Amino acid sequence: MIQALRGTRDILPEEVVYWQLIEATVAEILGRAVYREIRAPIFEQTALFERGIGEATDVVGKEMYTFSSRGDQSITLRPEGTAGVVRAYIQNKLYAQGGVQRLWYTGPMFRYERPQAGRQRQFHQVGLELLGCDAPRADAEVIALANNILQTLGLQNLEMDINSVGNGEDRQNYRAALVGYLEPYKNDLDADSQERLIRNPLRILDSKDPQTQEIAQNAPKITEHLSVASKNHFDTVLQLLRDLNIKYQINHCLVRGLDYYTHTAFEIKSNDLGAQATVCGGGRYDGLVKELGGPETQAVGWAIGMERLVLLLQQLDSIAVNSPDLYIVSRGVAAEAQGLLLAQKLRSLDLGVELDLSGSAFGKQFKRADRSGAVACLVIGDAEAENQSVNLKWLASGEQQAIAQKDLLDMVAELKAKIKGLKSS
Ligand code: ATP
Ligand code: MG
Repeated sequence: MIQALRGTRDILPEEVVYWQLIEATVAEILGRAVYREIRAPIFEQTALFERGIGEATDVVGKEMYTFSSRGDQSITLRPEGTAGVVRAYIQNKLYAQGGVQRLWYTGPMFRYERPQAGRQRQFHQVGLELLGCDAPRADAEVIALANNILQTLGLQNLEMDINSVGNGEDRQNYRAALVGYLEPYKNDLDADSQERLIRNPLRILDSKDPQTQEIAQNAPKITEHLSVASKNHFDTVLQLLRDLNIKYQINHCLVRGLDYYTHTAFEIKSNDLGAQATVCGGGRYDGLVKELGGPETQAVGWAIGMERLVLLLQQLDSIAVNSPDLYIVSRGVAAEAQGLLLAQKLRSLDLGVELDLSGSAFGKQFKRADRSGAVACLVIGDAEAENQSVNLKWLASGEQQAIAQKDLLDMVAELKAKIKGLKSS
């Protein structure tokens, strides 16, 4: 048998209800803040990600699914959403519409990683980008929206880390101070970090190696090397977060090493997720649009990992699967044909109707009706088929009544009210 590829998985119907809940919540919350959904392609030219994410990152360095297509062009399955959205923003001249663009996206992403709980090779993100605004209020708005989504979904035990990486000049100054501090420890750093000491020392701060982490703890802090303007930006963001009653802690080791990442960087983590704890990562990237060939455009955004969110939701109460309002039981050639017809008519009147297709004995069909979660059953046998009627049976009480099929359709409003009442009780 051919199996699914390692690091990919099927999301079965029992789990899809969680995904739908997340998608609906995201669409509603972001819709209210007037973010508009954008759908970019799943594959792009490799160069987009090399420039948009940076060759020195793990993602570009070792995690991309890159292949050459028939025309010998190098193509990559998107490992994240921002680069594609920014390309679309530039290519479609969305900046020419003036003002800010508030965009969101969702969909599969691809990274060649070691699969484990909450880490896959095909995974999904929902993300947003606010382009064309450098105000600290924009940073605060996007963080508040991430918070709204996670809270509305009922997630607790979340913590937000935040930091500022300033602008390019701030980082240049800081870099010197950091390297000065790290040099004496050079031989105690992990191998990757030793190499980064020359190429990209800031990234040493988020090394996962315990000994390197310990050394990083006492490193000079980037926030102590910010220009007045950068410090003001950061302080204002923090003040706005306090005004919004959003809890945060400053994490001096939270950095993004690339030049187009600026100012705010943040991460939201859960204490209920084990090793793969980060559900949301984001920040400001004032240099990226220009880097990718667009006009100078300040921007801020985030991405939430959907798989990790689903894992958290599954730890909460289970969500009721979508059960039908009515279940149609029929037996006999004429009855079965009428059952199908009736199901379609009732569905068009906005009722959830499951049609038993088994043709098995009434008893078996009734058992399935009970298991379906339907509130009532519509039974059509030879006798009912003969006079175009149906037996309406309320499953909880066992109460039943014979009724003409056309009368049933006439009393749909009444039927819906009763079903609604029974479902909520
Ligand atoms: P990590 O440190 O977990 O590798 P990252 O820094 O690579 O995360 P980002 O690129 O910031 O992650 O992506 C944002 C979010 O997408 C992460 O916080 C996480 O929730 C999710 N995510 C990233 N990689 C994966 C993956 N391979 N499988 C599942 N979810 C992922
Ligand atoms: Mg990663």
